[in-house]
Amino acid sequence: MKRIAVAEPKLGGNEKAYVLDCLETTWISSNGKYIGAFENAFAKFCNVKHAIATNNGTTALHLALVVLGLEPGDEVIVPTVTYIATANAVRYCGATPVFADVCQSTMNLNPHDIEKRITPKTKGIIPVHLYGHPAEMGPINEIAKRHGLFVVEDAAEAHGAEYFGVKVGGLSDCAVFSFFGNKIVTTGEGGMVTTNDDELAEKLRLHRGQGMDPARRYWFPVIGYNYRMTNIQAAIGLAQMENIGTALADRDRLGRWYDEALQNLADRIQLPRESTWARQVYWMYTIFLKNGGEKERDTVMQILDVEGIETRPVFYPMHILPPYKEDAVYPVADMWAQRGINLPTHQSLTKEDVDRVAKSLAVALAAL
Ligand SMILES: *Cc1c(COP(=O)(O)O)cnc(C)c1O
Repeated sequence: MKRIAVAEPKLGGNEKAYVLDCLETTWISSNGKYIGAFENAFAKFCNVKHAIATNNGTTALHLALVVLGLEPGDEVIVPTVTYIATANAVRYCGATPVFADVCQSTMNLNPHDIEKRITPKTKGIIPVHLYGHPAEMGPINEIAKRHGLFVVEDAAEAHGAEYFGVKVGGLSDCAVFSFFGNKIVTTGEGGMVTTNDDELAEKLRLHRGQGMDPARRYWFPVIGYNYRMTNIQAAIGLAQMENIGTALADRDRLGRWYDEALQNLADRIQLPRESTWARQVYWMYTIFLKNGGEKERDTVMQILDVEGIETRPVFYPMHILPPYKEDAVYPVADMWAQRGINLPTHQSLTKEDVDRVAKSLAVALAAL
């Protein structure tokens, strides 16, 4: 029986041709035509003025926080349910991530849980568009404005998602994307920062390239980083962007297939919901057991694994992980994150694959 992977890149366009072009022309490092072309294509796709490519999504986050002036002793509000890179990037600046609880339907930062956590040290908020569903940016931006805070969207999982018809990436001061192998757009490893602010864009480019003055070689006005993307990565990225419409359409269709196939299990599991103002992009089709906890969730995942179906647990909340351990209670995250499962979500899946997942899931749930 064919094994169904939880994620898998699709490299069906010009990826190979563009990479070969890099090799044949020897433009394999972080100069070359594909970098600018990928950045432009990405900026156009997100409808933003600037896109600055980096070597991964975590460095994109760190770079954004550096140019926004985050310093040791500062605090940044971060949803407790996220991939650990969101919190780590804050720590790389010597600042402290202050966790907030999430909304149950989307596992995204709950705007109602932000304000009570703001202190005189708070400098910013990082909402995460988790699993491809946009965070509630309006209220979050409004709170930020009232308190003079920056907002960085962590859009690593949400290429193409929309909030009230506006694409993520252009909804705050800066946004960051990841192009890891399992993301909606991939370059193997890679990242991007998007912004509409000319001054921030200039700073991002300066700090990405070790801080070297673009007008004076080997003159370094600041301490920067080597966070550059290679031409080879960008070549793959450009080819991916040529097919982004198909990628999103395939994922939409996959979401509908799952919705239909799992409808009869709706009393046992919560299916993904789309807020009225949202366009979600199904980075990971995510379900939650309505009853039971981590033990039952892990049993379901084990049964699926035996059936040749790979799944992933929803991220553990940051406040229970050793580096960020707190005794505090985050009711929604504590109650629901441990019941969440990411089902296989990628472009090569067929309707038959989805039906097989649904059937195995029904068997697993019945076995609990
Ligand atoms: C993948 C991811 C990142 C980090 O991206 P990398 O390219 O793996 O460094 C950051 N935040 C979130 C929410 C992610 O899913």
